[in-house]
Amino acid sequence: MTVPELQLHDGNSIPQLGFGVWQVDDDAARDAVSTALTTGYRHIDTAKIYENEAGTGQAVRESGIPRDQIFVTTKLWNEDQGRDRALRAFEDSLVRLGLDYIDLYLIHWPKPAENLYVDTFAALRELLADGRVKSLGVSNFQVPHLERLIETTGEVPVLNQIELHPQFSQPELRKFHAKHGILTEAWSPLGQGKVLSHPELVSIAQEVGKSVAQVILRWHLQLGNVVIPKSVTPSRIAENFAIFDFELNDEQVDTITALDVPDGRIGPDPDTF
Ligand code: NAD
Repeated sequence: MTVPELQLHDGNSIPQLGFGVWQVDDDAARDAVSTALTTGYRHIDTAKIYENEAGTGQAVRESGIPRDQIFVTTKLWNEDQGRDRALRAFEDSLVRLGLDYIDLYLIHWPKPAENLYVDTFAALRELLADGRVKSLGVSNFQVPHLERLIETTGEVPVLNQIELHPQFSQPELRKFHAKHGILTEAWSPLGQGKVLSHPELVSIAQEVGKSVAQVILRWHLQLGNVVIPKSVTPSRIAENFAIFDFELNDEQVDTITALDVPDGRIGPDPDTF
């Protein structure tokens, strides 16, 4: 089964389905990433703050899969914003991963009160020149943060990784991304498992003969989102990968999109976190 690749505006591409490893310790991350790579995933999402870059990198290196066939994302943690700290933090991530380059490096949160994300982004752009970062993006940026970043630096991040699931589908941000050529990547795409018993989702899953998790992931794909579900259970890792042999019709997509609720956010608010 081949996972579709989406085009980033810098000319690189990203597998639309990836594998996330938040809240997984180093040893478990090594095992889970190894299982994911064997299953067929070629896109792994980690971060400094997950404290599992070492296990993740080990699984990538020991997989026997050529490095250029695996897309690796990691993220700059909040305390590392600002030019010098950011460049040092990147080096440290690269060492922990044991890799020569990162496919996608993200500023994890904007931290607007600290007012450092513009300088941080400008500094990280230098890493693109020598190829140690292939693509540069952001995470948890709201429209005003993106507007300011673009106006000040004249550069557009390739992707914004944001909380996005059926009860928090981020229509305003997705519209802004589409207008500026920024890909939308969904974190907690399954709502951390909390939406799996929603009656409308259960009913659509019965209609198409798939699990609710598969239906939600398929909805993301059909919206054009990059999606990075997490599981450490091999059967679920396989289930979440088996989403390319069916389609939702427009009505089913619209029904899921309509589940959005104003207080649907599960994670922190990026304006204040
Ligand atoms: P998720 O929405 O992927 O849900 C994961 C949980 O759902 C699992 O722990 C499991 O309990 C359940 N689950 C997974 N597959 C299932 C299946 N097939 N059937 C039933 N239950 C299933 O949540 P997540 O881990 O929060 O998000 C995914 C990834 O997004 C993370 O691992 C991380 O890489 C990334 N993330 C990024 C940020 C950020 O700030 N950028 C924040 C949170 C997560």
